Amino acid sequence: MSPLPLPAIHASHSGCWLRDGAGTTRGAAKGEAIMAAADTPLIMLNAPLVASRLGYPDLSGLDLLELFAFIHPAQFIVPTPKGIAHALGLAEPASDDGVPALLQLAAGTLLARCEEPAWKERDGAWSALQSLARLRWPWAPLLAPRIAKPERAERGLFGKLPEWEEAPERPQPAQVSLGPEEVAARLAALTGSGAEVRAGQQAYAAEAARTFAPRQKENRPHVLLAQAGTGIGKTLGYLSPASVWTEKSGGTVWVSTYTKALQRQLRRESARAWPSQRADGSQPVVVRKGRENYLCLLNLEDALQGGFNGRAAIMAQLVARWAAYSQDGDMIGGDLPGWLGTLFRQRGIAALTDRRGECVYAGCPHYRKCFIERSARASAQADLVIANHALVMVNAARGRDHAQRPTRLVFDEGHHVFEAADSTFAAALTGTELIELRRWVIGPERGSKGRRRGLAARLADLASYDEAGGKAIAAARHAAEALPGDGWLQRLNDGMPSGPLEDLLQAVRTVTYARDESGGQEAGYGLETEAAQLDGPFNELAGAAQSALADIRSPLIRLGVRLEAILAEPPDWLDGSGRARIEGARASLAWRVDLIGAWEALLERLGGPADPEFVDWLAVERGDAREFDVGIHRRYLDPMKPFARTVLEPSHGVMVTSATLRDGDDWQAAIARSGASHVDVQPHLSLSESPFNYADQAEVIIVTDVPKGDISALAGAYSRLIEASGGGALGLFTAIRRLRAVHGRIADRLARAGLPLYAQHVDPIDTGTLVDIFRDDPRSSLLGTDALRDGVDVPGHSLRLVIMEQVPWPKPSILHRARRAANGGSAHDDRIIRARLAQAFGRLIRSRQDHGAFVVLSAAFPSRLLSAFPPGTPITRLTLDEALHRVAARASGVSVPTETASE
Ligand code: SF4
Repeated sequence: MSPLPLPAIHASHSGCWLRDGAGTTRGAAKGEAIMAAADTPLIMLNAPLVASRLGYPDLSGLDLLELFAFIHPAQFIVPTPKGIAHALGLAEPASDDGVPALLQLAAGTLLARCEEPAWKERDGAWSALQSLARLRWPWAPLLAPRIAKPERAERGLFGKLPEWEEAPERPQPAQVSLGPEEVAARLAALTGSGAEVRAGQQAYAAEAARTFAPRQKENRPHVLLAQAGTGIGKTLGYLSPASVWTEKSGGTVWVSTYTKALQRQLRRESARAWPSQRADGSQPVVVRKGRENYLCLLNLEDALQGGFNGRAAIMAQLVARWAAYSQDGDMIGGDLPGWLGTLFRQRGIAALTDRRGECVYAGCPHYRKCFIERSARASAQADLVIANHALVMVNAARGRDHAQRPTRLVFDEGHHVFEAADSTFAAALTGTELIELRRWVIGPERGSKGRRRGLAARLADLASYDEAGGKAIAAARHAAEALPGDGWLQRLNDGMPSGPLEDLLQAVRTVTYARDESGGQEAGYGLETEAAQLDGPFNELAGAAQSALADIRSPLIRLGVRLEAILAEPPDWLDGSGRARIEGARASLAWRVDLIGAWEALLERLGGPADPEFVDWLAVERGDAREFDVGIHRRYLDPMKPFARTVLEPSHGVMVTSATLRDGDDWQAAIARSGASHVDVQPHLSLSESPFNYADQAEVIIVTDVPKGDISALAGAYSRLIEASGGGALGLFTAIRRLRAVHGRIADRLARAGLPLYAQHVDPIDTGTLVDIFRDDPRSSLLGTDALRDGVDVPGHSLRLVIMEQVPWPKPSILHRARRAANGGSAHDDRIIRARLAQAFGRLIRSRQDHGAFVVLSAAFPSRLLSAFPPGTPITRLTLDEALHRVAARASGVSVPTETASE
């Protein structure tokens, strides 16, 4: 395979290397590298990352990742030199200075693939390339001579995608009981006869089977809370009874997760219990996500036809290449590379999904090929639906089809159910939400491109057929003029709000700033103040805003009634697809009516006494010193109340499982957080201890001599610990500011030692890809915040050290203060911290072979929090030097006795 003889560049934290077309590599200063890139397009890997390493944001060139996305759409790759070498079967570069040569060779290899007859993804490439050439994509001239025009015209994406089929509704499941023997036999079959018999897993599966027993009373589901230590094998533990039940009853079980990593694991493991296809071609296992995850074909078509310009248009072409090969059209966490969006440095990916509820359903020319419709239909026929907490709750709260609601549910990663319920049942009357409503009713403002259209355009045929419906649409459109429009934030900044809602937002902003108590310390970050003691003029503005919202809601209700009437007595012209469109419109209308009603209730209460069910506050959202939203927020004090009503009550069996449900030995908080008491059910409790030998596999070290608030000392401790373990460290921070400060101080030094350091909020790479990179390179380390605390599943040697900068105290927000007061004060804080510590510790030991240390750089670590760690885990308080010694010894495989240092 010959390298592409064009210059290439590689930049890391340890330096920068240029290689010319003749094959000479040399180190270069940043300024020189930038000049070289400006002169001629250089081959590079991940242009935004190279740009950030060089400190030159406008850098562009021949990005190998773009070429890879064109040639192998929907194929997984870790976007690093090592990753591309593996994907193409090339030798890994031994050091940074070998990378430019690899890039030239990888480019040559990829280009040569297009000439191979066996190239799998040839179909559609020639047509896509013609469009990309028109868009002046830098790779197009290099690809053009290698991709021959096909003899027969290629079918476009929209002609090529398969159509979904309608299927009859499934009958309701039979009421069956599961015997312990059949569950045990299924578990044995799923784990394989060669697998060791795990008593803990068998007991767990038997407990899980309780969830599937017939319900004895209406609205009283079986609720099982099952704590299962890491390593029990809980997925197969509950999939065993679930698969027996679906087989015997003909029903569907939903498993809901919080992280994509677990969704992937479930997809893999479910293959042991179900085939990938049934005899009739349907799928017994379906992954179902919220609609905002999937590609909307109508949006894509619009983007391809001029809705996107410049680089965004190139991205749309690469997305179209992917869509033709994608398994399910899932853009977020599916087979679309997570890095594709960040290569184009914009939110283009989100604009291609259906975020705004503007789907026109059967009115859409791609309805029969739509990925979202396909997944919804497939899940109605499935035995097992793998979903996430947010989708399950949103579906329950405002799902279109009641018959499709899950009745047998397993919430894995159950410690996140509370948070998911908290955000699902929240209300936020903010500028961003209001402008969204305006666009939904009126359509986008003049000058904006795209297919997005208002209510009148979406229901034009109805308006001409039904006079009352037409009038309701016109009235809603007129009333929605009162909502904030484009430029609202600027008008608020200028003190020139327009309309009753902007007037209110202006007042919210003024009050929030006036009451700020942070003394400027929080400059650049969000501000909030409780919605109390608001004066008369404020309440008058709230009243005016409330009636403006009511003026929008009433015609929407009238329109909903008309839609119902049309469905009840359909006119001749209403065919099946028209009916589906009206049903779709009715569902999204009902949701907006509820939303506006919740906003009105929120405003109604501002002038009156507080409602003890809710916590309300005013907020100005800021990030990097820029305001991006202003508004009033409402949360349930206990979001498990609406959860119980909408999710538990209609269910027959619900299992909540996690490695960290209990607080130490205490079940009380877990029971309260299940919502069971709100439906008058006593949950069944089950406990399975982890089979891991924590005393041998892990240790917790509390470092006693890193002074609090000293960033240099903190950075020094991080870099020395990472050096001591030779990488493989996950660093967790409670504040982005500190994360950035530490990263800025240590990344170059570590890179020079051959220890790459990646960081959330610093590197222009999405979190999922960061974790992939970290997993792939045992010498790399990763810094991050909350999302990494339990979104990382990296078994084995790649993760052998977790470093926490300090005790993860909860943010003292207004919401937290209210819940703290309602739940036992500092005991509530302690519970939260212990749960966070347990989750973070859980990253370390994922299998029986894993070993590692968990280091907290906080001398003031209270002993009452130590019960967060699994029983038997050695815990020591040491100086940094002693800790380094132990971490280094552990990394080199030397056994490190802990007796002398134990607490
Ligand atoms: S049916 Fe809706 S979501 Fe699907 S492609 Fe059409 S507009 Fe997009």
